[in-house]
Formats: sequence, C-alpha cells, structure tokens
Amino acid sequence: MSGRIAVIGLGPGDPRYLTAEATGALAAAEALYGYAPYLDRVPARADQSRYPSHNREEGARARAALGHAAQGANVGVVSGGDPGVFAMAAAVCEQIETGPEAWRALDVVVIPGITAMLAVAARIGAPLGHDFCALSLSDNLKPWPLIERRLDAAAQAGFVIALYNPVSRARPWQFSNAIERLRRHLRPATPVVFGRAVGRLDERVAITTLGEADANAADMATLVIVGTRETRTIARPERPPLVYTPRAAAEVSA
Ligand code: SAH
Repeated sequence: MSGRIAVIGLGPGDPRYLTAEATGALAAAEALYGYAPYLDRVPARADQSRYPSHNREEGARARAALGHAAQGANVGVVSGGDPGVFAMAAAVCEQIETGPEAWRALDVVVIPGITAMLAVAARIGAPLGHDFCALSLSDNLKPWPLIERRLDAAAQAGFVIALYNPVSRARPWQFSNAIERLRRHLRPATPVVFGRAVGRLDERVAITTLGEADANAADMATLVIVGTRETRTIARPERPPLVYTPRAAAEVSA
C-alpha cells in the first residue's frame, strides 16, 4: 500500500482564504503535521492524529511526516500561506531527495495557498502590479552578505520587493539594516507597506515611505512591500489610500 503526503497551504489566517482543495485535503488526512500555531487553525477531530512541532524543526517534521506516509497513511503537512513560499513544500522535497528510496514512491501533492504578499497587496491596491520579487530576511539558512547582495540587485533592477521574515527575537537588527541598504538605491518617497497578521483578527496595514519607515514597526507576523520609482499612492477622501505599481515602466526604474 502506498502512502500519500499532501503539503497543504492554509492561507494567511482566516478560514475564508482556505481553498476548496485545501479543505478537502485537510478532511482526507489521517494525520496532520505542522508548526503548532498553524495546526491550531485546523479544528481537531477525534479520528485524525496531530503532530505539532516547533518553528525551526522543518527538516525533522518533514522526515516524521514522510516516515508516517511510508507506512501507508494519508498524511497532511500544513503551512501558513502557500507551502511553496519559504515553507514546508521545499523542506519535504529536501528530505525526499536525501532520504530512503521508499519515500520517492510516495504520492506527493502540494496544495497552494494565498501567500502573505498577495494577501497584503490585495488590502491596499496593487503594489505588485509590475515586476516584483520576494526575499526572506531570515539569515538562518543563508548568510547575511548574500541577503544584502540580493537587496542591492533587486532595488537596482527596479523590482518591487516583498520582504518575508523581516524580524524575529533572534534577528533584531536585520530589518533596520535592510531598510538602510535600500535607502542607498531608492528615493525617500518610495512607498512602503507594512501588513501585519493579514486575514486575522489583529490585522494591521500601514502605508509609509522608505524615508520614514520605522524598523520597529515590523514583527514576525509582518510582511513588508517596498515599492519602486513607479509605485504610486492615491489619496482618497475618507478612504484609505490606494498603493499601486502601474503596469508599464520606464527604462531605468530603480
Ligand atoms: N509560507 C508563508 C510564509 C512563511 S515565512 C506564506 O506563503 O505566506 C513567514 C513570514 O511570512 C512572516 O515572517 C511574515 O513576513 C509573512 N506572513 C505570514 N503570514 C502573514 C500574515 N497573515 N500577514 C502578514 N505577513 C505574514
């Protein structure tokens, strides 16, 4: 009997962002693995076992889930947002590549979810309306100088930049360093969006500029979008501004 492992994107928080496919996969799973706060979003069921784990244990979590699936079970691994964006789908692939041959015979399904940058962008207009990139500021899995190089390159190339993992308790200085770095390339008036806990009860979205951005305004649940020279803010009477990046760009856009 061959097992199945489904890596399931839960979206940014609220159940209304769960796709029908994710809902079906959650219902079909016999066992669920995941970072505890993500698992907590899925209502418990007596006939479904649950294996919560800590944040930085992705490799061990993936191995445990794969081992369980290899026994013939239908296993679900949950991720916040999309499982392919700085999350469990890559961790599962890493373990399949280096793990026992039997894991390659498993049915592997990745179920997409709404990733944080899309949820934040949708709240305020269309900041990702033109070319953009996503960068994680976490230097747990890559050296900080590489992150700096990518920030420089992205800003110089005129990409809107979505910054995941701006800060954590273990990484207090990286985000302010990144802001300083971007100020070397981009004008102070460049629009910047802080989207915190989007899709959850404590959601907060704030629009500022690169010149005024306060690094202390971001925490672990915040996604930051840094615009380009083209990104615009439209003021509106008695409504929040719209931030958008037009679909066309000039030749030199940084
Ligand atoms: N797989 C996830 C990202 C995991 S990395 C996804 O696709 O969204 C974790 C980072 O994602 C956080 O530090 C934060 O930058 C961002 N994030 C996750 N959920 C968020 C939410 N609801 N609102 C804003 N940012 C969020």
